[in-house]
Amino acid sequence: MLIDTHAHIMFPEFDEDREEVIQRAMDAGLERIICVGCGAGSSEAAVKMAQEDESGFLYATVGLHPYDAMEVSDELMARWEKWILADKDAAEESGGARKIIAIGETGLDYFKSKVDPEKQKYSFKKHLELAVKMGLPVIVHNRSADEDCLNLLKEFSRDGGGYKKLIRDCGCEENDMAPVKAVFHCYGSTLEFARKVWAAGFMTSFTGIITYPSAKDLREVVKEVPLDKFMVETDCPYLAPQGNRGKRNEPSYVVETAEKIAEIKGMGLSDVEKQVMENTKKFFGF
Ligand SMILES: [Zn+2]
Repeated sequence: MLIDTHAHIMFPEFDEDREEVIQRAMDAGLERIICVGCGAGSSEAAVKMAQEDESGFLYATVGLHPYDAMEVSDELMARWEKWILADKDAAEESGGARKIIAIGETGLDYFKSKVDPEKQKYSFKKHLELAVKMGLPVIVHNRSADEDCLNLLKEFSRDGGGYKKLIRDCGCEENDMAPVKAVFHCYGSTLEFARKVWAAGFMTSFTGIITYPSAKDLREVVKEVPLDKFMVETDCPYLAPQGNRGKRNEPSYVVETAEKIAEIKGMGLSDVEKQVMENTKKFFGF
């Protein structure tokens, strides 16, 4: 069993055959798909898909990608907060699972995003506040912004000023509000930075990139990642693993990434799957 922790199957790339894509994921032995929002529109679509899905296979997140950080507003954050609370109430009432299970993707992209870095940081911070307030983990997109990403996350860690302020503002105790939990999705930075991420208690998640022949440095990161610090994802429709490289990616292909991790770490596939499931369930609170 595996979970694709980062899929964008609400994108138009899947409009023609979404049901078949989901079926193939089930047939490949996936247990769940997490549909990750990256704008106001795609977040709404992800939540709708997860809430309409009665099989318990689809889950959603809400967030603004650094490319779309200019969409951030208090109004949007308040709307998402309302959705999250309503979703939590509905789950409690029905005895079912929560469908909105994380905040993101959010983060910083100094390589490709056209949005001013200060605006990106503002948006990232708003997401981190919402995540801590709602008790949800955060999915972080980081490109060429290693230190700024880590520093902002540390602001919302146990001793961080942002976290302490949230506690003061709500008048609650530290025990009532956990510090931020985060995953660096589609990890692509150096081994040296990965060590800092792990030391700070954060997770790393790997995509099909680790199967590309050129990704030697990244395979060193996989080799060294502590067993409790990784998850797998597709980031589909992008980044199909080597076996389907250049084609549209889809959740069922996440198996190839898990196989690569097993090969790199010298583990059996079933042991990698077991570990990934344990890490994923713990991180998202299933
Ligand atoms: Zn993504």
